[in-house]
Amino acid sequence: MSPDSNQKTVLDPFGTSMVADYERLYKEFGIEPFKPLLSRVPNPSMYMRRGIVFGHRGFDRILGAMLKHEKFAVLSGIKPTGEFHLGTLMTAKEIIYFQQQGAQTFYCIADIEAYEDNKIPFEKSEKIAVDNIADLLAIGLDPKRAYIYRQSKEVRVKDLAIIFGRAPTLATMKAIYGERRIGLYLSALIQAGDILLPQLEDFGGPKPTVIPVGVDQEPHIRFTRDLAQIFGRKYNFILPSSTYHKLMRGLDGSPKMSKRQMNYFTLHDKPETIAKRISNAFTGGRATVKEQRELGGAPEICPLYETCLFHFVEDDDKIIKIYNDCKSGKLLCGEHKKQTIDTVLRFVKEHQRKKKNFIDKAREILQVE
Ligand code: SF4
Repeated sequence: MSPDSNQKTVLDPFGTSMVADYERLYKEFGIEPFKPLLSRVPNPSMYMRRGIVFGHRGFDRILGAMLKHEKFAVLSGIKPTGEFHLGTLMTAKEIIYFQQQGAQTFYCIADIEAYEDNKIPFEKSEKIAVDNIADLLAIGLDPKRAYIYRQSKEVRVKDLAIIFGRAPTLATMKAIYGERRIGLYLSALIQAGDILLPQLEDFGGPKPTVIPVGVDQEPHIRFTRDLAQIFGRKYNFILPSSTYHKLMRGLDGSPKMSKRQMNYFTLHDKPETIAKRISNAFTGGRATVKEQRELGGAPEICPLYETCLFHFVEDDDKIIKIYNDCKSGKLLCGEHKKQTIDTVLRFVKEHQRKKKNFIDKAREILQVE
């Protein structure tokens, strides 16, 4: 149990989520642990192997489809509010993983949510979305085997939201999301439409569908599963499944990456900005080199270790070595920061080079002039 495990758990898709102890979520929210399924997953992703994907709802159904080579779908998306950062990179890698495992793939640009939650006008989110899709393609999504759309242009999603709006009362919405503007309740209904879109007849009808998300999105999953049950007779929906990944902290050690605190970097920041943010990152290191050599560091509370674990060290043996070398005092923070800066800058440079080639394709997909 972590030292701050007395903190209240908050899962708020429209605000700041706080999770001090992931184990507690199994009991408090009825999320199921992912670990017992891991050995049966044919080709587990890095996030699954490392316990970053720690929980799920109904993933057994997806696993069954994967093992029997039956059809299933994956849906994820992005709120077009800015450039790709490490959080959106994670969701992108998860959807690409499921696409590579044979899932029918859906990627949603949540521009209605960006409008309602972040007040981003549609003309602006359209430009951001082109950029985001170019990132997604550069990371490896195959556009020929994916349906990529904007909420504001997808009538079927909006129709589902209108139909779903008949069911929940204001009290239900308040119980799930707290007291919010009506626009946010509307965007929750739209998200439910996104999640169930792959099961419409236009896309081959009901099928197991997995939504890989950060655990802060859990309220949307619970809400949509309830709606899928309520409207089950009309549409024959299969309850959507989810996987939940842990949330990355900011580089300053705070629970969330935040623009205001400038405690993260995007894939489009200048090399000097990225290097500076990593150099200034909080670590689990000791006050002096001597102490660290003698007592070792604390990778379990270190955002720099987390950055490597989640993204930049793909080899499992290497990440175990970093952990052990930190614990034993063999690896020092200054040296580790330098290595990480080199690795991140190499990745970002290559990513930016690839991305340039996908801008036109992204415009074509989103039908933007
Ligand atoms: S050596 Fe690396 S992992 Fe260990 S505390 Fe320092 S920065 Fe973090």
